[in-house]
Amino acid sequence: MNQFELSRASSVADALALLAGDSQARFIAGGTNLLDLMKEDVARPTRLIDITHLPLAAVEAGKGGGLRIGALVSNADLAYHSEVSSRYPLLSQAILAGASPQLRNMASTGGNLLQRTRCYYFYDAATPCNKREPGSGCPAREGVNRIHAILGASEQCVAVHPSDMCVALAALDATVHVSGPAGDRAIQFDHFHQLPGDTPDIDTSLAPDEIITAVELPAEGYSGHYSYIKIRDRASYAFALVSVAAGLALDGGTISSAAVALGGVAHKPWRDRQAEQLLIGKPANEASFTAFADALLQPAQPLAHNAFKIGLAKRTIVRALSRAVAMEEQS
Ligand SMILES: Cc1cc2nc3c(=O)[nH]c(=O)nc-3n(C[C@H](O)[C@H](O)[C@H](O)COP(=O)(O)OP(=O)(O)OC[C@H]3O[C@@H](n4cnc5c(N)ncnc54)[C@H](O)[C@@H]3O)c2cc1C
Ligand code: SF4
Repeated sequence: MNQFELSRASSVADALALLAGDSQARFIAGGTNLLDLMKEDVARPTRLIDITHLPLAAVEAGKGGGLRIGALVSNADLAYHSEVSSRYPLLSQAILAGASPQLRNMASTGGNLLQRTRCYYFYDAATPCNKREPGSGCPAREGVNRIHAILGASEQCVAVHPSDMCVALAALDATVHVSGPAGDRAIQFDHFHQLPGDTPDIDTSLAPDEIITAVELPAEGYSGHYSYIKIRDRASYAFALVSVAAGLALDGGTISSAAVALGGVAHKPWRDRQAEQLLIGKPANEASFTAFADALLQPAQPLAHNAFKIGLAKRTIVRALSRAVAMEEQS
């Protein structure tokens, strides 16, 4: 473990001032990802800024009937919050599919958005990795790449984003609120996480001098027809090979609105709004869902060991949408 200083921020302005003074400083919330990265010598902050005492732990009414979730609301509190479990059960379900009860008690909303990939090479400081050390190479491309991306990857990086919560937030069209020296701004969830391109070391559009203050959900939560399905190697305590967050609005047996996001397949939660249009006005049946899944996975480019994800993703999409229609027992 490298040496570091610890500061405690007393306000958002104080947190930003502490961050501005040190380019190697990092915020710490639950610490469930950052401390692991420090122990593995992947992250080497010179200063940790404890933000756990900032007034960002409330879930309150948002604009236009939505819900505003403070960046420090724990994953557990969020999943079990009555407004979330009743109006946004897709989000509750996705959160509860992740990690363990102990981790969810510690993990924060902001930290979940910024958790880093679980690519084995990224965590192994003895190997090259473009995300950890830009320009050093990507051993996963030709190496052990069973868990890696099939969509939106680049020559530089084929890692996937590991979050479950973020897949639901993508389907729900959340907005991320941030503050920085230039003031406050709102980032649409689609634009928050980035594809790797030529800069795989940059995961998000959050600037290095900004802090996440809240995540806001719109009024529509797809509480009538939703499903989150996570496919993984073990039944618990494992990251997704493929996950699907699906929300539907139905007019009789016809689809009037659809939102489908995938986890475990790309560097960010994956949505294809053009493909989603294929569902609108169609009967809510397996044929429509299969046509949609085929279109969504059409651009997939498998690596040597992860071609299985294409069929798995298609089947999981069809199952998630079918469950969303029937609202059968969900696990
Ligand atoms: C064993 C294990 C299993 C897990 N399984 C899953 C799983 O199945 N599914 C899943 O989704 N997740 C899983 N996780 C990941 C877990 O959800 C994340 O580690 C957690 O959400 C991160 O939140 P945190 O508050 O602990 O972040 P921290 O570790 O405190 O911070 C993470 C990063 O976010 C930054 N940060 C934190 N808050 C802010 C803020 N408000 N503004 C700006 N920057 C901020 C920090 O500087 C740091 O870079 C697992 C983790 C572990 C250790
Ligand atoms: S996939 Fe990305 S994170 Fe993994 S080794 Fe390649 S560059 Fe590093």
